[in-house]
Amino acid sequence: APVAKLVRHIANLGYGSRKQVQALFREGRITDAEGEVLYADDRVPHAAVRIDGEPLDPPPGLVLMLHKPVGTTCSTRDPGRLVYDLLPPRFRMRDPQLSTVGRLDRDTSGLLLLTDDGQLLHRIIAPKSNLPKVYEATLAQPLRGDEAALFASGTLLLESEQTPLKPATLVPVDATRARLVLTEGRYHQARRMFAAVGNHVVALHRPQIGGLTLGDLAEGRWRPLDAGDLARLF
Ligand code: URA
Repeated sequence: APVAKLVRHIANLGYGSRKQVQALFREGRITDAEGEVLYADDRVPHAAVRIDGEPLDPPPGLVLMLHKPVGTTCSTRDPGRLVYDLLPPRFRMRDPQLSTVGRLDRDTSGLLLLTDDGQLLHRIIAPKSNLPKVYEATLAQPLRGDEAALFASGTLLLESEQTPLKPATLVPVDATRARLVLTEGRYHQARRMFAAVGNHVVALHRPQIGGLTLGDLAEGRWRPLDAGDLARLF
């Protein structure tokens, strides 16, 4: 379907203010796929627009996965390195805004989703979505052996909380490494679960959410999700 207001559409993708985008039109830098110059009030589909010969960034409804490195935060205004700094600068200027789907700690690496789709965000993070999130934890102490049963019991209480954790699955990998599958996302949950059994997490990585894995996406890199990825997620 054609975009009703091309100027507003392009401005909302973060290419500049409406004034700045109007200037791009006047300079003839906005064309169709064949290089024909477009005008601000033309009605053409998103996919047909080029700016300086380049296709537009993805339209609203964008979902992307980022391989978050340790040392970056999911905040928008932390003084340190932000996950948003790993994306094209234009992505921070989008309207609707791109936000992280839940959060990973600064010291956690792995699969992080970002979207500008509020409904999708809610579908993923809502407690009743029960979407499994897979973590790989490296521990300071060897596993005792009773952790899997305790985590699976649905009775584990985290310090200063009243509601027991939902059952979680722990699979030991070796003496000091385990795979942990959580279906909720309380603050520092994985770290606090291991603290509750007298251990300490020295490294935490999330390779998977639902059926969606990082695959061969390198640390610090991102890619948009397609319909197949989204189908794997749920
Ligand atoms: N649990 C944690 O403790 N930290 C994370 O980043 C995710 C789950």
